[in-house]
Amino acid sequence: MKEFQSQRIGYGEDAHALGAGRPLIIGGITIPDSPHGPVAHSDGDVLFHALADALLSAFALGDIGLYFPPSQAEFKGLDSLVIIERVWQLLLEQVSDFSVVNLAAVITLDQPKLGPQRSVIQANVAELLNLPLDRVGIGFKTSEGLSPQHIQARVSVLLRGHLRG
Ligand SMILES: [Zn+2]
Repeated sequence: MKEFQSQRIGYGEDAHALGAGRPLIIGGITIPDSPHGPVAHSDGDVLFHALADALLSAFALGDIGLYFPPSQAEFKGLDSLVIIERVWQLLLEQVSDFSVVNLAAVITLDQPKLGPQRSVIQANVAELLNLPLDRVGIGFKTSEGLSPQHIQARVSVLLRGHLRG
């Protein structure tokens, strides 16, 4: 029973409009031969943005807009790995016995098809969170043509730890 008392669910979402000729980066991986990529202040990595929010939400620490306001010029073109690293550092400071149990993510995108990139995205996220591959679930959906110029990520995580009092 004690084990469950330290468990927290985190959830995050992120979405960007897609523009022609921009790089498409998902989970730190640049998707080859994409006709478009996110129009964003940073590199527009929806998976990392949703993951950062999921991690913060589990301990009610707000969201990345709080720590990375779009108005700040220093975040222009920011590699989203930096966002994850800063959020991770924040959690290590605020949470004792912190660990990630597993992650489940869904990316919604019509084109290009992401299936061939699943294992490389999964491996990159697993390495980042120091998790075995079978604890990193990456799913792909399309919008069925309803929003072809749109990319979205949804991420849930199960974490363990106690907020430092
Ligand atoms: Zn974003």
